[in-house]
Amino acid sequence: MSLIITSPLRGWATTLDSVPDPVFAQRMMGDGVAIEPLGDTIVAPFDGEVVTLHDAGHAISLRSAEGAEVLIHIGLDTVMLKGEGFTPLVAIGQTVARGDPLIRFDLDAVALAAPSLITPVIVTNAEAFAISRRSTDCAIGACEALMTLVPVQANVRRSSDDGIVIEQTVKLALPHGIHARPAARICEAARGFQAELHLLNGDKRGDARSTVALLALGTRFGDEVVVQARGDDAEAALAAIAALLATDMGETAPAAPSAAAPPRTTLQVGQIGGVIASPGLAMGPAARLRQAEIAVASEGVGAAEERAALLAARDAVRAHIAARADSGDASIAAVMQAHLALIDDPELIAGADARIAAGRSAGFAWRGAIHDQIDAIRATGNAHLIERIDDLVDIERQLLSALTGTPLDGAAMAAGAIIVADDLLPSQLVALAAANPAGVCLTRGGPTSHVAILCAGMGLPALVAMGAALGAIEDDAPLLLDAELGHVTLRPSPADAAAFAARLAKRAARRDAAQAAAQEACRTADGTRIEICANLGSAADAQFAAAQGAEGSGLVRSEFLFLDRETAPSEDEQHAAYQAIADALPGKPVIIRLLDIGGDKPAAYIPIAEEENPALGQRGIRVALARPDLLETQLRAILRVEPVGACKIMIPMIASIDELRQVRTLVDRLRSDMAIADAVEVGVMVETPAAAMTADLLALEADFLSIGTNDLTQYVLAMDRGNPAVAAGVDAMHPAVLRMIGETCRRATARGRWVGVCGGLASDPAAVPILIGLGVTELSAVPGFVAEAKQIVRGLTLSEARAHAELALQCKSAAEVRALSRAFEETRR
Ligand code: PEP
Ligand code: MG
Repeated sequence: MSLIITSPLRGWATTLDSVPDPVFAQRMMGDGVAIEPLGDTIVAPFDGEVVTLHDAGHAISLRSAEGAEVLIHIGLDTVMLKGEGFTPLVAIGQTVARGDPLIRFDLDAVALAAPSLITPVIVTNAEAFAISRRSTDCAIGACEALMTLVPVQANVRRSSDDGIVIEQTVKLALPHGIHARPAARICEAARGFQAELHLLNGDKRGDARSTVALLALGTRFGDEVVVQARGDDAEAALAAIAALLATDMGETAPAAPSAAAPPRTTLQVGQIGGVIASPGLAMGPAARLRQAEIAVASEGVGAAEERAALLAARDAVRAHIAARADSGDASIAAVMQAHLALIDDPELIAGADARIAAGRSAGFAWRGAIHDQIDAIRATGNAHLIERIDDLVDIERQLLSALTGTPLDGAAMAAGAIIVADDLLPSQLVALAAANPAGVCLTRGGPTSHVAILCAGMGLPALVAMGAALGAIEDDAPLLLDAELGHVTLRPSPADAAAFAARLAKRAARRDAAQAAAQEACRTADGTRIEICANLGSAADAQFAAAQGAEGSGLVRSEFLFLDRETAPSEDEQHAAYQAIADALPGKPVIIRLLDIGGDKPAAYIPIAEEENPALGQRGIRVALARPDLLETQLRAILRVEPVGACKIMIPMIASIDELRQVRTLVDRLRSDMAIADAVEVGVMVETPAAAMTADLLALEADFLSIGTNDLTQYVLAMDRGNPAVAAGVDAMHPAVLRMIGETCRRATARGRWVGVCGGLASDPAAVPILIGLGVTELSAVPGFVAEAKQIVRGLTLSEARAHAELALQCKSAAEVRALSRAFEETRR
């Protein structure tokens, strides 16, 4: 468990190197951070106990419940002042909570009397705790994160024949264990050291510089992994890798599938079902991809020749991959980067080299080395890792092709064909994409494989895991690929083909019409104004959204400024970001959601004690109200945006009206401090059943209400939105969620307040008519859906939307609601 040490006072954080006293600069008392004080009160940096308090009142040390010991030494040579200017506020042995005042001092008097005011904050028991993150060279407020400590499970030292091995055990904080992305980061960090570095998981041991070896460890969240280091810089290498492993490396829990993921429908004769890897529709002839084995001789002609041949082939493949990585497409570039790491993977190279030394050919040796790793990954049983095996097979084939001169298959495919294959390797897909295929059907594969990600990036409809039945499809057989409902129809009847062609044409026409009318205001067919806005995370999103016709933003997720950093963004930084978003949407409303931290969105510098139920704990506005310093800074940054009122304020995770009142009071005080006469709208998010059922009460004091269907669904259904085990059930089209939405609209509109939806349901085409029928008048969707949402609304009358919504409320399940929506769409063709 890591421990966050918050700053004991306001000031400028700097490294110990800048302390003009060798005792601190040379870490004689331990490692830490120094602060040039701007405040005059030392506060507790964590919950703990006062262990020492010097008689002169200039130094204090505390111990946390976890056992971390921290010394705070105010100024240099201040012991000489014999207590003059220092007022201790606690006693030795006293229990304190983070933020409790410990010592007050006279900043001016001490500054005049002492050589320096610089205040080292030192971890004095380095044998038990290491610093994994620290804030330096930045302004810092009291109680903002200063350091993160990770327990050092004693560096065990062992002697071996070839030197001392030191090791440390780390509990993995990565939500999916070490999969491809974290493995690449660990390798990169390991390459910065000379020492040999290995990771051990149970009886498996892998080179920390080899991504495949790290994958083959088969680690999972919470595993105790041993890091071993040997060599000159072993201590530093061990500390760096252990610290990295103790963090989540920015990985978050798996996202639940989109609320729009349709259920599998019953298959008709001639249809083969599959898992949707990339949504869409396609029709065209099948183009079977047969993947011939590339034959290689087992015996080599001499180790030197085989090594040279392997080296040349690796060079050729590396150049080829690097050229593809430059294609300008981010998803292709990411996959190509992963392949570049494999071609230079030390474990693969060592495996191949050992075989070459034993007399094997380069090709045979490379294939053997790859298959060793595939076997190891398969043995982990981890589905997430197993989906990465196709990358290894891909690298095997590319290298063998380069070695033997065998051309890789698939280049000659007619445009508009549907690729049918047992499986598809990422490099094959990239090569085939040049021929403009219409879709992809795979016997195997997984929805989160690299091929799936590439297909989605290319807008290529794809079904995977279709099973052996796909083998019956012959070359040129006409196919209807429905990656909306999850099946392919083989040799369709003329009537089915015509109906499908009509659906395709309708999609295309709707897309074109939507794009052409993207900039026009949105009204229902009978004239009711519905605002279609976009959810944003940055100014770049805002520019894209504006081009898509967004009429403002119904949700700016301000967390984008706060996550993945060591300290909170300053008022100026926030102001610049909000102003840039407002500037990208001139004259249009921009709703900035206040910091929504906690639950699935932690920030290191906002310490939240470990909670058994984070989704029901400190999150959203509860965190902001507990940290008025952060809240006030954010509100000031929003209020400074010009023109005044361009940015509205929205409060996340409201459960009671009192939370709204507290924010409103603060906003009013800041407006008066800042001499802002104009009113600034303050609205609430409806994400809890409590907010939905008291929407009438909230509407008395809120300027608007916006429903966060992602959280509302989680709380109404009592299903964790990030838990894959219940992901299939987390569908916002569940009648219980729709009833909550209807209830919110009924209660709030009766009080004259508008209700919007900014959760994922606003981006689901099937849900749009229902939401409008329930009384929602603003939708804030993903930017790419804005134009289409406008077009859907334009095709509706309010009365038909209401009738449709009424039927949806009577459905018994989300599946029934979705079936109803499909039927609704059918009748409107
Ligand atoms: C929601 O809960 O629907 C929402 C919009 O907030 P987030 O997804 O950011 O939690
Ligand atoms: Mg939410």
